[in-house]
Amino acid sequence: MNDVTLRGALEIIACVLFLVGLKLMGKQASAKRGNFISAAGMILAVIVAVSASGVDYLTIAITVAVGSVIGAFAAVRVKMTAMPEMVALFNGSGGLASLAVGLIELLPGRDVEVVGRIAAALAVIIGGVAFSGSIVAFAKLAGKLNTKPIIFPFQLTLSGLSAVATLVIAGFAVPHDAHGALLVVLSVLSVWIGVLSVIRIGGGDMPVVVSLLNSYSGVAAAFAGLALASPVLIVAGTLVGAAGLMLTGAMCKAMNRSLSNVLFAGFGATVATGGTAKAAGEVKPITAPDTYALLEAARSVIIVPGYGMAVAQAQHAVKELAELLIENGADVRFVIHPVAGRMPGHMNVLLAEAGVEYEQLAEPGDVNPTMENVDVALVIGANDVVNPDAREDQSSPLFGMPIVDVDKARTVVVSKRSMSSGFAGVENSLFYRPNTRMLFGDAQKSMAAIVAEFKQA
Ligand code: NDP
Repeated sequence: MNDVTLRGALEIIACVLFLVGLKLMGKQASAKRGNFISAAGMILAVIVAVSASGVDYLTIAITVAVGSVIGAFAAVRVKMTAMPEMVALFNGSGGLASLAVGLIELLPGRDVEVVGRIAAALAVIIGGVAFSGSIVAFAKLAGKLNTKPIIFPFQLTLSGLSAVATLVIAGFAVPHDAHGALLVVLSVLSVWIGVLSVIRIGGGDMPVVVSLLNSYSGVAAAFAGLALASPVLIVAGTLVGAAGLMLTGAMCKAMNRSLSNVLFAGFGATVATGGTAKAAGEVKPITAPDTYALLEAARSVIIVPGYGMAVAQAQHAVKELAELLIENGADVRFVIHPVAGRMPGHMNVLLAEAGVEYEQLAEPGDVNPTMENVDVALVIGANDVVNPDAREDQSSPLFGMPIVDVDKARTVVVSKRSMSSGFAGVENSLFYRPNTRMLFGDAQKSMAAIVAEFKQA
């Protein structure tokens, strides 16, 4: 077998490992294995690529070591709540790499077919947008840039004109041996479009944007793969592109918003003016001992975690409480709303970290039809995802978003620190309903206090 055939065979094996890994990631029980298998595919792909590159082995070893140390350090250090920031940075790096590959392939004197040159130009444009968009998303998520949408007159017109200019320059660069300066202008314009597009989106929508940019970075990598005639890069890029797009769609659907609403509406700038109807009723606080008494008598309990559980890092105390409730004879389920928290799967990851069994997790659709039979719905740091106005108040910005109908349970206990609103910035009429009790305080402390009551008894 000659070198080229061997390389082709190894690339096909790497592609199969990606596919198998991705399939296994579809289920929580096999997700870890899937991750390892995909990582093995990536290592194989890197080895094949660098062995064919002609670069000396010492340089390769040093760069791989530096990259691996940075990646491992970042993965170990990152807090769960800062995961979207890290994903944004990694997306940005992917976009920048594709931009660099595209630029090199367009340089004068390169022997690249016209299809390869078109792909290279697209890798520069999409890679540039993914790079700068991800950096802006990172800065917004990390609070280093104003999280409010930055909107100015004729912004969309400017974006449109920039896009037209980019396409014209790319159209010129493809058939000709483009001057280096023209390629620099092409890159700068692409980066500029990424900045313009993402600054107009509010910080809270950044996880959706990061998912979309993730898709862009995959598509850019696939075009870079086409330019390099590298099947493994085409497959990996296409998988990332498709997965990112599917996740973006799922997140928009769970928030009942269209992608164009996320990208162009400037949500967050307008939200404070929506849903201003004053919630009627009386707020009824409850103490931890009284919550214990309610829970001790309950036969059916649902636990609805939200962003506040992540902030309080209350997942371990919540898991302990669930175990005590089960020992006490109650039926306990965790109901996970798809957009609870600030990133897809946020609650699933936290609960898995605390050791909650996958079988104990339920989706809103599993529980809502029989909510009237639930004795206690314990809401832990969730707000928007349990706001009944999403069902009942047409003036609410949340109207139409599917929620967990906890208001229909016999008693609702809401653990949060104050009456302040959640991500959407709207009041929640749940807190004023006759069957709701407010357990004020940090969620971890509140859960620990209820656990202590159980243990004392
Ligand atoms: P929310 O953001 O609606 O509410 C979180 C609540 O947690 C706050 O009201 C806050 O109240 C409370 N909280 C904060 N810290 C603590 C603490 N230490 N202890 C107890 N409570 C605390 O969260 P949800 O999960 O209900 O909803 C998620 C929102 O984020 C939705 O609007 C969704 O659309 C949006 N979103 C989700 C994305 C995702 O991928 N999951 C992506 C983008 C947006 P207080 O300050 O009074 O304690």
